Amino acid sequence: MLRLYNSLTKKVEEFKPIDEKKVGIYTCGPTVYLFQHIGNFRSFATADFLIRALRANGLKTRFVMNITDVGHMTDDQVGGGDMGEDKIEKAAAREGKSVWEVAKFYTDTFLKDYELLNLTPADKLCKATDHIREQIDLIKQIEEKGFTYQINDGIYFDTSKLKNYGQLSSLDEIKEGARVEKNDEKKNPRDFALWKFSPVGERRQMEWKSPWGVGFPGWHIECSAMSMKYLGISFDIHTGGVDHKEIHHPNEIAQSKAVTGKNLANFWIHTAFMQVAGDKMSKSLGNTYTLYDLEKEGYEPLALRYLYLQTHYRQEMNFTYAALDGAQNALRRLWNDVSRWEDPSASSGQVQKDFDEYEKAFFEAVNDDLNMSKALAVMWVLVKSDNPTGAKSRLLFKMDEVLGLDIEKKSAELKKQAGLVPDHIREMLEERESLRKDKRYNLADQMRRKIEKLGYVVEDTKKGAKARKK
Ligand code: AMP
Ligand code: ZN
Repeated sequence: MLRLYNSLTKKVEEFKPIDEKKVGIYTCGPTVYLFQHIGNFRSFATADFLIRALRANGLKTRFVMNITDVGHMTDDQVGGGDMGEDKIEKAAAREGKSVWEVAKFYTDTFLKDYELLNLTPADKLCKATDHIREQIDLIKQIEEKGFTYQINDGIYFDTSKLKNYGQLSSLDEIKEGARVEKNDEKKNPRDFALWKFSPVGERRQMEWKSPWGVGFPGWHIECSAMSMKYLGISFDIHTGGVDHKEIHHPNEIAQSKAVTGKNLANFWIHTAFMQVAGDKMSKSLGNTYTLYDLEKEGYEPLALRYLYLQTHYRQEMNFTYAALDGAQNALRRLWNDVSRWEDPSASSGQVQKDFDEYEKAFFEAVNDDLNMSKALAVMWVLVKSDNPTGAKSRLLFKMDEVLGLDIEKKSAELKKQAGLVPDHIREMLEERESLRKDKRYNLADQMRRKIEKLGYVVEDTKKGAKARKK
């Protein structure tokens, strides 16, 4: 059975679903004010590996992801994460567009890249701005339970009123930093905004009426409101990047617990940062790469996916082009090797007696807190093993339901390409074969070079020589 590291208990635990019929998973999605970078996508890849692992264990999943299109402030790592400017409003001013255009543009590009990386689509993708009523309702309930107070710029959550506040985070690390002006009106630096008022005398592009005044929701309330709406008041798994462990997730938990008395989710899964030269890859540091940047350099999107698979999600990974080269080469070798195999329906040959061990070892690694790099290593042992290729492809394609490397599709494409060799090349190939049979190797080599000059590679296989397009 699947074992996962739970940030809430700080232990690896056996995963037991609340309801066997459907596992509820919520992932904090993108803030759509800029392109999502390959660090962001690392977090989404973890959610994808997790969903595929659950399915490999025979479980069904309901996967909900939000789109943050309002309320995420520039100073999201300080205090309650609610100071500074609204990222979307700031981007709209920078780009000379409306906030709605900005949000739509970056949502669309996110979804395009998401698909290219073979990430499992959400069953429910929900925008914060489509759920203002739900957020206001939840704030009202938090207010009724006595956890709120009002100050000049908004309605705040009083963290001192909640027992066990901040269980996820390392409490001491949260300070109200010198970088931002301290909000002296707050009772506690960790209290956070549930509803912020539009600045006096200013009209924001995104603002709504509420029982407390015109304004917009705080960043954290959307996730509590939408996850509870679509998954119930307490669900199985919540995921996000490790930065959310300190402020955003403790606040989601606080909001929900204040109202329901329950834990919002049983398991909290956090992905470690992708770094560049020792720093977090982040939009604010300006050291980001997008999938498009990599594609421009000639990389396959799935090479990035392969790269993610190589490092455990709880370990930081350093991005380098050298590592991506390695991932791409390995992936292409894999597709190429498999393109020479028989179809999964082929039943020729006898498998070695330990053949079943590959499957066992692979799924054990996946179940061991998503140890995908180990699973990948087992996959390579299978690929290189001396077993009938039909049987190998049957198992490999099953493994690929978790790895998501398009092995069946890409190898079939390569196989088809190899079959598309024009007659004159095939004739030259046959001539080379007969020269070799006559042991006239020099002439056979000349013929090989001639074929190569015409853009084809000659491969000698057990079944004879084959040509394929370079
Ligand atoms: P954002 O668009 O800023 O709301 O972030 C989307 C997701 O990416 C969140 O779960 C973040 O925690 C995560 N994230 C941000 N930067 C990184 C990084 N360098 N490595 C891994 N995950 C990240
Ligand atoms: Zn969230």
